[in-house]
Amino acid sequence: ELAYLNEMIVPVDEAKVPVRDRGFIFGDGVYDVARVYDVRPHRLGAHIERLRRCARQIELCDIPSEADLERIVDELLDASGLSDAMLYMQLTRGAAPRKSAYPAETPATLFVSVERVRRGADKFRDTGVEAILVEDIRWDRNDIKSINLLPKVLMGQRAHKAGVYEALYHDADGHVWEGTSTNLFAIIDGALQTAPEGPRILSGTTRRDVLELAERLGYDCELRPLTEEQLRSADELFVTGTLTEVQGLVAVDGTAVGSGEVGSITREFQEAYDELVEDRLRQ
Ligand code: PLP
Repeated sequence: ELAYLNEMIVPVDEAKVPVRDRGFIFGDGVYDVARVYDVRPHRLGAHIERLRRCARQIELCDIPSEADLERIVDELLDASGLSDAMLYMQLTRGAAPRKSAYPAETPATLFVSVERVRRGADKFRDTGVEAILVEDIRWDRNDIKSINLLPKVLMGQRAHKAGVYEALYHDADGHVWEGTSTNLFAIIDGALQTAPEGPRILSGTTRRDVLELAERLGYDCELRPLTEEQLRSADELFVTGTLTEVQGLVAVDGTAVGSGEVGSITREFQEAYDELVEDRLRQ
C-alpha cells in the first residue's frame, strides 16, 4: 500500500509530514475518497472536482490541477499494482507557526494513498444493515469535506458499540439529514426522498449516481430531509456511499424498517448501481 507525498511515492507507513503541518495541528484541510474497481477509479473526475471545490472554499492556495491529480492517481495505481482499492486524497494548508490566521502563500500538502479493498464479499447485500439515530453535532458547512472529523469519529464509535453499520444525524427539529459517511434515501409510496444539496449534507457522488438512476428507472425523487416520523414509517430505506455503495437499511434504533428486509426497490437500485459501475469499466 503506497502513498504519494512531496512528489514521491513511498510505502504508506514511510510517508511523513512535519508536526507543524496545519492538518495535524488544526485539522486545516480537506479530503476525498474514491473507489477503484478493476484498476479504474469510479467517477474520479467528480471526486477531484469536489476536492478542488472544497479546497477553494477553505481558500487553500496552490491547489493541484485536475490533470496533476489524475496523473498522480495513475502513477500511484500503477506502482501499487492494486486493482480493487480505496483511493484517499488529502490537501492541508502546509506547515507554518501555530496561528489561526495563515501566511498568505503556505503551499498545500498533498497526500494521496491507495489501500486494498476486497470486492465481491458484500455480506450486507442480503441481510441489509442497521443504523442508530444520533444528534448532529457537526458544523454549518457539511458540504465541505473537511478533515475535522471528531463528530464522525464519536458517532461512528457509537454505531460500532451498538453493533450497527451507520449512525444517522438528526437535528433539533427532528430532520434526519445523512449518515457519518453515507447519504440517506427513503422510499415512500413508490417515490424516493433524500435531503437536498446544501450546507447540511455532503453531496455524495453515489447520491448523484442514484439520482441519475432514479430518473432512468422512472422514479420521482423529492429533495427534502426525512422527518423522524417518515423514517419510522418509510416503506424502504437505503444508504449510499463510495465504499458503502447502496445498502438497504433494515432497522433504525432497533425498530424494523418496512418488512424488516432489504426492499425490492432498494434491490433494483443496487442492481442498477452495479451495472453502472460495470458499464463504466467497459468504456
Ligand atoms: N455524507 C458524508 C458525511 C460522507 O462523509 C460521505 C462520504 O464519505 C457521503 C455522504 C457519501 O459520499 P460519496 O457517495 O461521495 O462517497
